[in-house]
Amino acid sequence: MTVKNETEMLIFVLLVTFVSVAASLLLTWIFAPNGLETAALIPAVTVPLLVAPVTTLWVGKLMLRIHKLNEQLAHLVRHDQMTGLLTRVAFLEEFEQSGQTNTGFVMVLDIDRFKEINDTHGHLAGDLIIREVANILKDNTRPDGSAARFGGEEFVTFYPDTSIQHAEMRAEAIRCAVERQDVLVSGRELNCTVSVGLEVFDGSRPLVEVLQSADEALYKAKETGRNRVVRSTNTDVHDARVTA
Ligand code: GH3
Ligand code: MG
Ligand code: MG
Repeated sequence: MTVKNETEMLIFVLLVTFVSVAASLLLTWIFAPNGLETAALIPAVTVPLLVAPVTTLWVGKLMLRIHKLNEQLAHLVRHDQMTGLLTRVAFLEEFEQSGQTNTGFVMVLDIDRFKEINDTHGHLAGDLIIREVANILKDNTRPDGSAARFGGEEFVTFYPDTSIQHAEMRAEAIRCAVERQDVLVSGRELNCTVSVGLEVFDGSRPLVEVLQSADEALYKAKETGRNRVVRSTNTDVHDARVTA
């Protein structure tokens, strides 16, 4: 039995108290020399009435705390500690659980020349930039979509039920937002850019293959100068950057 909230805890306390009184009455009736006469009836009711609520309330609170800790643990396991985004494994599991019936767009995003940022400004500055990019991703992910940190400075998001025009606009909005965002590190304003690969998921290919195609588009974005969005299709890969 689990207790998930205060209402369930109250039900648990009332149920155990009721069962305790009933069991006490039954035992008294069976074992007391004169059955359920008043002298035996009063302690048979009052003792469980006094003891059961106090002890079950204590046990109930413990069960509620265990349930909340389990929820926190499950959240910790599924989310990246630095950014709060889904982990790679959780992202793939969520996708699997959705039955892969979703159609939409997969976006793979990678921070440009991140090693240089680390080497020049230190890992702490690098961490702050990773967090900032993750926040921009969160702001641009719909509640029914999902965003994950796949590794170091690489992120993946899924936009369900969206057109290529919307997916490109969204990716471009993220790219611009990152480009504009300054991160204050030890009094200095740093900024970075990202490259993005986009691929459609229409259910005809497994997610791993779609991710692979999105990765190839990302590679193309890196090759052709970084700080851009590139869409991949099986037959056609084209630069979707919106130039100002
Ligand atoms: P490119 O534009 O081609 O993507 O170049 P890059 O420098 O971004 O790519 P590269 O793969 O060479 O470097 C990624 C770096 O990210 C190397 C690694 O030390 C760093 N990194 C990975 N995880 C973290 C992290 O959690 N924090 C910080 N600060 N750095 C990280
Ligand atoms: Mg990179
Ligand atoms: Mg990378």
